[in-house]
Amino acid sequence: MKSKYTKKDILTLPNPRLREKSERVHVITDETLQLVDDMITATLDWEDSRPHELAVALSAVQIGALERVVIIREDFEDRDNKNFVVLINPEIVKFEGKKITEIEGCLSVRDVYGKVARYEKVRVKAVGIDGREIRIKSPNPFVARMLQHEVDHCNGKCFVDHITHNKTAFLLLNRDGDLEDVKYEKVARMGILKDD
Ligand SMILES: [Zn+2]
Repeated sequence: MKSKYTKKDILTLPNPRLREKSERVHVITDETLQLVDDMITATLDWEDSRPHELAVALSAVQIGALERVVIIREDFEDRDNKNFVVLINPEIVKFEGKKITEIEGCLSVRDVYGKVARYEKVRVKAVGIDGREIRIKSPNPFVARMLQHEVDHCNGKCFVDHITHNKTAFLLLNRDGDLEDVKYEKVARMGILKDD
């Protein structure tokens, strides 16, 4: 069935479900295919509403399904390419190189970006939508970062959780699509940081 999902189905912080751990998928069923379709439909609808941002990936938990399913844009350079690669039960089997701090954002964290340290290379094992095992060696630090971000989602972790106490790590997207400095207190007041 054609998906009726929209950007409104994408959960945003502080929704507590985003900090819950997803379960492994044991069998790929019609429901799994529907879930993937819903994820893609919601992601593309979100992108249509965001002129300055590209939706590169989404995890199932972001539309409320606690299953270890991730979709990743086939081509990050081309907004017109609407194809996604599906990773089921993705696992990072190896972190390599050094950690690099770069700005990242998330469909579930509205307008707030943050500087997060991530490994520059990873190796990932997953299962494709056809049930076959996939092995990915990240081709560049951007893809490595995205894979770490999405596997984090499957474990109930959002990017802001890496920088909860870092007063200089946050940025805010303004109406012109530029990232500007934001006071830490303002971010804290949004209620998106995890209290620990
Ligand atoms: Zn995210």
